[in-house]
Amino acid sequence: MLGRARRLLADNLGQRVTARTDIDVLVVGAGPGGLTAANYLARFRRSVLVADGGCPRASWIPLSHNTPGFPAGISGDAILARMREQAEEYGARIEPGWVQGLVRDGAGFTASIDGREVRARAVLLATGVVDHHPDLPGVERAIERALVRICPICDGYEATDKAVAVLGHSDKGVSEAAFLRTYSNRVTLIHVGPPGDLTERDALVRLGIELVETPIEAVRLEGDRVTAFCWGGADRSFDLVYSALGTSPNAGLAQALGARLADDGRLEVDLHQKTSVPGLYAAGDVVRGLNQIAVATAEAAVAATDIHNTLRQQDGQTV
Ligand SMILES: Cc1cc2nc3c(=O)[nH]c(=O)nc-3n(C[C@H](O)[C@H](O)[C@H](O)COP(=O)(O)OP(=O)(O)OC[C@H]3O[C@@H](n4cnc5c(N)ncnc54)[C@H](O)[C@@H]3O)c2cc1C
Repeated sequence: MLGRARRLLADNLGQRVTARTDIDVLVVGAGPGGLTAANYLARFRRSVLVADGGCPRASWIPLSHNTPGFPAGISGDAILARMREQAEEYGARIEPGWVQGLVRDGAGFTASIDGREVRARAVLLATGVVDHHPDLPGVERAIERALVRICPICDGYEATDKAVAVLGHSDKGVSEAAFLRTYSNRVTLIHVGPPGDLTERDALVRLGIELVETPIEAVRLEGDRVTAFCWGGADRSFDLVYSALGTSPNAGLAQALGARLADDGRLEVDLHQKTSVPGLYAAGDVVRGLNQIAVATAEAAVAATDIHNTLRQQDGQTV
């Protein structure tokens, strides 16, 4: 036990994590959730490795105006850089690497990360989701320029009085268009799914939301704020477009361990962010709930604290 404690302390104090590693906690994903957990765990003097596959969703944010503490707004990259610096300051290791597999190993887990093995007493999944982007030319650039947006809860306020198109299928598109009516009375739902998927037509009429069901023939993203959609000879401009095409959670590692998933494929967790697999925690977008930075960081703080206290109990620290 003493040897293990020394090894953990050495890891925490800065030795390089090498080919075969024993640590307290493996965090999968270096978005806001994973980086917050790393900061907390490192400050609890835990040896923690964050393995990240790159491109956290947060890095897509051109300028966030709803992140607490930044009244003038802050970009996703700037948030991530600050969080990373803070976690590393206290000894967390953050390394690029894709976690290919996670298997039970005694009371903990062994992870394979790009060909090496890491054994951890607990694992936190902060693996996020993958957005289903619309099939538009230059869509990635358009998201960077905030012409195409993903999240009205994040930036609906900035759509105030703008001409807004919502690209959606099923009644999820209707809900998103309805949500945006808080901000603008010029909202158009461009329905890209089968007509039978749309049951809430009355709500659209009641809310004064225009419905377009004709297939889009061409799209132009031009200038700073002009987006033109063409259908049936019509050519219309919008100030911005919201994509309401949904996401897929990165829950495969947990699923392979038999963790319980919600109907939408996200991970079910308890009040301490524990999944149904002992020692496996989850936080952020991969967990059912509101996909927000504030939520991911809060969940990560809860998870990290419970992990630390659980490991203390396992080590006989019952007081
Ligand atoms: C365009 C856009 C604008 C947004 N604007 C805002 C905003 O203004 N305010 C706000 O609060 N929220 C905003 N959001 C939402 C916010 O980005 C997310 O809620 C937040 O990033 C979730 O953090 P996370 O840590 O759960 O996941 P992410 O930030 O997505 O990070 C997950 C990480 O896990 C890694 N990963 C996944 N699987 C593996 C694996 N097997 N091995 C290794 N690594 C893995 C991924 O590579 C990724 O780096 C926006 C999102 C988008 C797309």
